Amino acid sequence: MYVSELFPIDRASLLIKAKKVLAVQAHPDDFDFFAGGIIAKLAQRGCEITYLTTTDGSRSTTNPKITPEKLAETRMKEQERAAKILGVKHLMWLGYTDSEFQPTLEARGKIIRAIRQTRPDVLMTLDPWLPYEAHPDHVNTGLAACWAAMLSGFTNVNQEHFSEGLEPHQVSTVCLAISAKYNTYVDITETMDLKIQALAQHKSQFQSETEVGLGPFEIWETIIKSVAEGFGREKGMKYAEVFKVLTPLEMHCNLSLAR
Ligand SMILES: [Zn+2]
Repeated sequence: MYVSELFPIDRASLLIKAKKVLAVQAHPDDFDFFAGGIIAKLAQRGCEITYLTTTDGSRSTTNPKITPEKLAETRMKEQERAAKILGVKHLMWLGYTDSEFQPTLEARGKIIRAIRQTRPDVLMTLDPWLPYEAHPDHVNTGLAACWAAMLSGFTNVNQEHFSEGLEPHQVSTVCLAISAKYNTYVDITETMDLKIQALAQHKSQFQSETEVGLGPFEIWETIIKSVAEGFGREKGMKYAEVFKVLTPLEMHCNLSLAR
């Protein structure tokens, strides 16, 4: 017997009813790519969304003429513009060097602090258990964020935050993007256009055809739409995004095998 069978969970409504979301991503653009549809949908429903980006995005280029400093600055502005389009209210930056983020106690503590500051009901992050994922920032950011979600409600964890006036806070739902074991579909038909507009702001990530890299934006627009169409087809939606949605109870000792 799984916990989710004992206490049936409507995972999609846990997400859609969120009033506050803290979305912890590795790079400026991660959520716009993989969750831009639900982010815009939540914002339209009045949800207060904060992006917390763990790295400065300074390494993601194959163009030797772009310095790390310049790229970090550019990507911060791109993320600001994309966030505005999707309706994301707040941007927080941890500023670790792109490609070098480690799930240290220090980094975990900073995410716990952000949880205690923003007090979200849903914490979103990248699935750190995605098979074959080789980008260390994606794995390490997802891990640190999941650990933080597990610990932020404990009164004896990072007690230094309490002298800053913060209080413990337990998130009620964790939502993992880029998951191979997704269990929740979200209809993003209405917000696909906003997602594409937001993605288009990340110009530094879409090189011309003569350069190596992600390739031109038009290719990515086609890929994003066809992936969303594929997920949507499984549930009779035009476009869908998929997530692994878990409750904290399911994220400890594998109580549910969380299907
Ligand atoms: Zn990334």
